[in-house]
Amino acid sequence: MAALDSTSITDLSVRFSGVLLRPDHSGYDEVRRVHNGLIDRRPALIAGCVGNADIVDAVNFARTHGLELAVRGGGHNVAGRAVCEGGLMLDLSLMKGIHVDPVRRTARAQGGVTWREFNRETQAHGLATTGGVISTTGIAGLTLGGGLGWLMAKHGLAMDNLLSAEVVTAAGDIVRASKEENDDLFWGLQGGGGNFGAVSWLEYRLHPLGTVTSGLIAYPFARARDVLKFFREITSAGLSDELAIFGALLHAPDEAQIAVMIACHCGPLGEAEAALQPIKKFSTPILDSIGPTSYEETNRMLDAGFPRGALNYWKSNFMSELSDQAIDTLVSQFAACPSPMSALVLEHIHGAATRVGVTETAFPHRREGYNFLVVSEWLDPADNERNIAWARESYDLMRPSFTSGRYVNYLGDDDGEDAVVAAYGPNYQRLRTLKAKYDPNNLFHLNQNIRPM
Ligand SMILES: Cc1cc2nc3c(=O)[nH]c(=O)nc-3n(C[C@H](O)[C@H](O)[C@H](O)COP(=O)(O)OP(=O)(O)OC[C@H]3O[C@@H](n4cnc5c(N)ncnc54)[C@H](O)[C@@H]3O)c2cc1C
Repeated sequence: MAALDSTSITDLSVRFSGVLLRPDHSGYDEVRRVHNGLIDRRPALIAGCVGNADIVDAVNFARTHGLELAVRGGGHNVAGRAVCEGGLMLDLSLMKGIHVDPVRRTARAQGGVTWREFNRETQAHGLATTGGVISTTGIAGLTLGGGLGWLMAKHGLAMDNLLSAEVVTAAGDIVRASKEENDDLFWGLQGGGGNFGAVSWLEYRLHPLGTVTSGLIAYPFARARDVLKFFREITSAGLSDELAIFGALLHAPDEAQIAVMIACHCGPLGEAEAALQPIKKFSTPILDSIGPTSYEETNRMLDAGFPRGALNYWKSNFMSELSDQAIDTLVSQFAACPSPMSALVLEHIHGAATRVGVTETAFPHRREGYNFLVVSEWLDPADNERNIAWARESYDLMRPSFTSGRYVNYLGDDDGEDAVVAAYGPNYQRLRTLKAKYDPNNLFHLNQNIRPM
C-alpha cells in the first residue's frame, strides 16, 4: 500500500466540500465506530462526503494511492464492512438529503440516510416504502442487499421498490442506473450490495400508508413450543399480503426468556382486526401490544433491543419449512442462551416479495418461507467467546432445516466465498461478469464480495 503523505491529503482538502478526518482529529473515533462494537478498525483517512464531487475525489484518491476503500452508509453491517484498517473510509453519513415527490409517489434519498429519517419525510405525505424492521439501519446497505421489512409482503423488498440510483464507479465516473439507463448495472444494484460503486442517491417508489396495526404479543417461555407451532400454522395458512409476522425467542426487559410473535398489518383497520384476531385469541399472553399505530412507530418498536456499540455476532440461513425438530432445537438452544440481549428469530417471507422471478433481480430468494436469524448480542468483551460459540452452535444445530440460500445482508465476517455464492445462487456468474465491467480491479471489495470474472 502506498504511503499516505500529508501533501496529497492537503491537495484533496483544497477541493473537498465535506470533512476529512485523520486519526488525530477530534470526531475521528465517533465516525470510525460502526453499529457492531466488536469492530474496531482505524482507517488512515475518513472522507466524509457531502455530494457526488466529494465521492468522485475520494474514490479517485483511494485508487491512485493504492488505499483499501470502505463505504459507510448507515454503518449497520454486522460484519463491519463499512470500515477498514489503514485505508480510506468513504463516509456517507453526512449525506442526508431526502426529497419526496407526492404526485409521482417517489422519493430520492442520499446514501447516508437511515430508515428513521426516510420514514419521517415520506410519512409527512402519507407515503412509505418497504424499509428495514428497525429504524436505525442505513437505507443504502439494506436496499442494495435486498431489504426485508414490515411492508415486504405487500410491496416487495426494499430493493424491489428501487427505481433508480446514482453511482460513483471505481473509475470515478458518475453513472445513473435504472430500468431505462444502464439496466445491467441496475439489475446488479438490486441485491448485489456495494460491489459496483458508491451509491450517492437512491430513488424509491412510494405507496400510500396511513395507520397500521402492529406490535408484539408475548408468552412465557414454557409455552415456546406451542407458540412456534401456532406461528407455523398461521404462516403456512396463506397470509394476506397486508400481514407480516415474525416469530422469535427473546428476552423481556427483566431478562426473562419469552416466546413472541411480532406483527404488522398495513391494511384497513377492520381487516387488520379480523386478520389478527386468531393471534390475539391463541392463548393468554403476558403482553399484547398489537394495535393501531403509525408506521414510524412500528419501525421504531424494536430499536431499543439493538443499541449502538453492543457486541454482535449474527448467523442466518433461509428455511422453507419449520419442522417439529427445528422447533425443539430452537427451544432447547434458546434455553442455553448466554446473553439476555440475544434472540432466535424467524422472519416469515411471503406475498409480493416472493412474486418476482429468481433472475429478475440479483436477489434470487423468492420462495415463501423463513429467514432464520441468530442474533447474538452482549455487552462485556469478556463474554465474546461464549456468545460467539452459542451463535455458531445454534446455527449448526439448525442446519438440517436449511435450504441452500443465504441472505447477503446478514453474512458475517467469517462467512467465506461459499456463503456469497449461496447468497447469489443462479445469479452469481452474471454478477461476476458485471463486476468485471464496473470494477475490474475489485476496488470495492469490502462487502459481500463478488470477484470479477
Ligand atoms: C440491528 C440491525 C437490524 C437489521 N435489520 C434488518 C432488517 O430488518 N432487514 C434487512 O434486510 N436487513 C437488516 N439488517 C442488515 C442490514 O441490511 C445490513 O447490515 C446492511 O448492510 C446495513 O446497511 P447500512 O447502510 O447501515 O450498512 P453499512 O455498514 O454502512 O454498509 C454495509 C455495506 O453496504 C454497502 N454500502 C452501504 N452504503 C452504501 C452506499 N451508499 N453505496 C455503496 N455501498 C454501500 C457497503 O458494501 C458496506 O460495506 C439489520 C442489521 C442490524 C445490525
